[in-house]
Amino acid sequence: MAQKTLSLAIVGAGMGGLAAAATLRQFGIDVNVYEQAPQFARIGAGIQMLPNSSRVLRGIGVEQKLRDISFQPYSHLNRVWDTGEIKRELPMPESLYGAPFMCMHRADLHAALYSVLPPDIVHLGKKLVGLDQAQSQVTLSFADGTTTRADAVIGADGVHSLVRDLIIGPDAPLHKGRIAYRAVFDSSLMKGEIGPSRTKWWGPDRHIVMYYTRNDRSQVYFVTSVPEASDWLTKESWSAKGDVKELRAAYEGFHPEVRMVLDACPDCHKWAILEREPLPRWSDGRIALLGDACHPMTPYMAQGAATAIEDAAVLARCLKALGNEDVEGSFRLYEANRKPRTSRIQAISSANTWMSGGNDDTSWLYGYDAWNVPLIGLRESESID
Ligand SMILES: Cc1cc2nc3c(=O)[nH]c(=O)nc-3n(C[C@H](O)[C@H](O)[C@H](O)COP(=O)(O)OP(=O)(O)OC[C@H]3O[C@@H](n4cnc5c(N)ncnc54)[C@H](O)[C@@H]3O)c2cc1C
Repeated sequence: MAQKTLSLAIVGAGMGGLAAAATLRQFGIDVNVYEQAPQFARIGAGIQMLPNSSRVLRGIGVEQKLRDISFQPYSHLNRVWDTGEIKRELPMPESLYGAPFMCMHRADLHAALYSVLPPDIVHLGKKLVGLDQAQSQVTLSFADGTTTRADAVIGADGVHSLVRDLIIGPDAPLHKGRIAYRAVFDSSLMKGEIGPSRTKWWGPDRHIVMYYTRNDRSQVYFVTSVPEASDWLTKESWSAKGDVKELRAAYEGFHPEVRMVLDACPDCHKWAILEREPLPRWSDGRIALLGDACHPMTPYMAQGAATAIEDAAVLARCLKALGNEDVEGSFRLYEANRKPRTSRIQAISSANTWMSGGNDDTSWLYGYDAWNVPLIGLRESESID
């Protein structure tokens, strides 16, 4: 007898939600994505895709599209804020981990993920307000008064996830008194070059990361982490503006290359850095979480979207293996296989020690293959690999 096609509703069309829609469809699952925004905005920011997420993007079918536009840094370079001394440099040729290290505009990654989905499965202007599980189905209610049903729901609705509030209970994300300034702008505004690497400049209590976001080096991006007064901390928005003069003052005394970039920057955005401790569980019955909804982290390891994209591949494999007979079991299998890794990354990212010096192993992070890593807890008879 033919198996029934599983229908899934994904809440949130960010990087994680779109990546999950793509991987689930590849495994024959019927998917619809519900996004609160009435339209997609081009958020002015860069994003790094290290080999662990590039490998998933390859399987989704967007690698070439991203290679055509993105910048591939020579190395992961870490320098002392004022002298420029190298603390640690890791050259990142593609041969090292079998997939590229790519830096790009965030909107280009989002557009690439969207491009592999049929447009009619992504429903905009659908703000989730409620979930109800009954009789092997979940009913989703939206702010516009409509409802829909699915066999299961994935909450990919970000750090302020309503889905998480509904299945785990409400609580606020952690803010540890730091904000990020960020800007992406035309590199012709700079009086010099920033070099071929993705460079992190480490100051005593602040840092700045910079890289090109286009393969022709026509666009440059930086993102910072600086202490900030507490009244700013609860806000979090991709569109909130910062004051360029305050930003430049915060990096007084930094190396001339940093000053050159900040002097050229026409304006900037400001973002409260939020994180959470690992959650007690990631699912409740037929509802599971993915990406920032279940493991939000500081951006210091550039792994927030990357781990959401990894989640997408492992979740699809777990649903393929068990989903038709046991959706709830497939969600537990997904959590068991993902949580140890994301919790480890959350902790290192929070401490902001990654690549700050020494010669620690990087293969566990960048060499991870979400498509092929053995699924712990999956019996041989259930294996899909
Ligand atoms: C400054 C900065 C730099 C970063 N740099 C990197 C980097 O270089 N590399 C990297 O891998 N990561 C980076 N990150 C992390 C990365 O941005 C996030 O981890 C990633 O965007 C999480 O994706 P997501 O899909 O889980 O959530 P989001 O991208 O937040 O998407 C959630 C979506 O859900 C929608 N939504 C929310 N509530 C509802 C609702 N009730 N109903 C319907 N829709 C809803 C939202 O509108 C949104 O579209 C950075 C983060 C910051 C702040």
